[in-house]
Amino acid sequence: MTFLKSLLATALVTVGMGGAIALPVRAHSNESHNSTSVQAEEGVKFEVIPVRGNIYVIAGTNGAGNIGVVTGEIGPILIDSQVPGVTNDLQTVILNAFNRRPGMLINTHWHFDHTGGNAALGETGLTIVAHENARVRMAAGQVIESLNRTIPPAPEIALPAVTFTDSMTFHVNDEVIEAFHVRNAHTDGDIVIHFKNSDVIHMGDLVFNGLYPFIDVSSGGSINGMIAGVDQILEIASNDTKLIPGHGPLLTRAELVDYRTMLITVRDRMAAAIAKGKTLEQVLGMNINADYDETLGNVFLSPEQFATILYNDLSRDDLSRDDLPQ
Ligand SMILES: [Zn+2]
Ligand SMILES: [Zn+2]
Repeated sequence: MTFLKSLLATALVTVGMGGAIALPVRAHSNESHNSTSVQAEEGVKFEVIPVRGNIYVIAGTNGAGNIGVVTGEIGPILIDSQVPGVTNDLQTVILNAFNRRPGMLINTHWHFDHTGGNAALGETGLTIVAHENARVRMAAGQVIESLNRTIPPAPEIALPAVTFTDSMTFHVNDEVIEAFHVRNAHTDGDIVIHFKNSDVIHMGDLVFNGLYPFIDVSSGGSINGMIAGVDQILEIASNDTKLIPGHGPLLTRAELVDYRTMLITVRDRMAAAIAKGKTLEQVLGMNINADYDETLGNVFLSPEQFATILYNDLSRDDLSRDDLPQ
């Protein structure tokens, strides 16, 4: 049984729904680069995918968050650290691919499929950086209400030692790396990582490519914040920019525009149903996103789970606000 299957099976048994944040991921088939596959223990296979210059993505077949890598003088800088339990294998993969141990770790947000390797990597002495809210949520432990999952407090060694609230710029490994906060999007502690020299952006879980995005409302996330965050990325991305999503294969700017259109469409449909006074049960019976459900609703979140998250999110919003993304 693969790690993902066992994880999902555990989630199914314990919470009664496909409630893990580790997701299946498709092969990065639209990339023309040669990639290296490394078989790790526990059935998880890692693929090291060249993105551009000294930037890579490490994608695991367990579907946990895409790891960004920028190699150079201080050793590979990692963007996110996958789930717990695969870190030894991951470190082997990194050592084999780049001949160096990781030199720094930046977390895009607190979720355990992006910070699960923090403790093991922290023990090697590297510095961990994240948004302040990500550290607060990791330190406190969290309940993800929509997935009915409880995440215990992280040990001190796993916590980001360096945090910021707005933005931070790193001048390392021949790169200018700008990390900036987007407000109340996937969570309230998301950062987007812009590799300015190489024109590559790691977007964290603001973007799920090929599946419905998870919006963690109980961690301060919202669909309107997701759309506004995507808009911030579109402002700095060109047609040549390489875009790394939190889950799924790399995408182009045009594909990110399509993703934004999907977010706006499902938001507007749900807002209209809520404005008509529909109950959650009535909305679920209407299949308002049937056109998207077929492609996006069979990978991680089911159509019902996604619609429920949207309903709960938008029911608490003041929809007369005039600052909503259009
Ligand atoms: Zn994720
Ligand atoms: Zn996440």
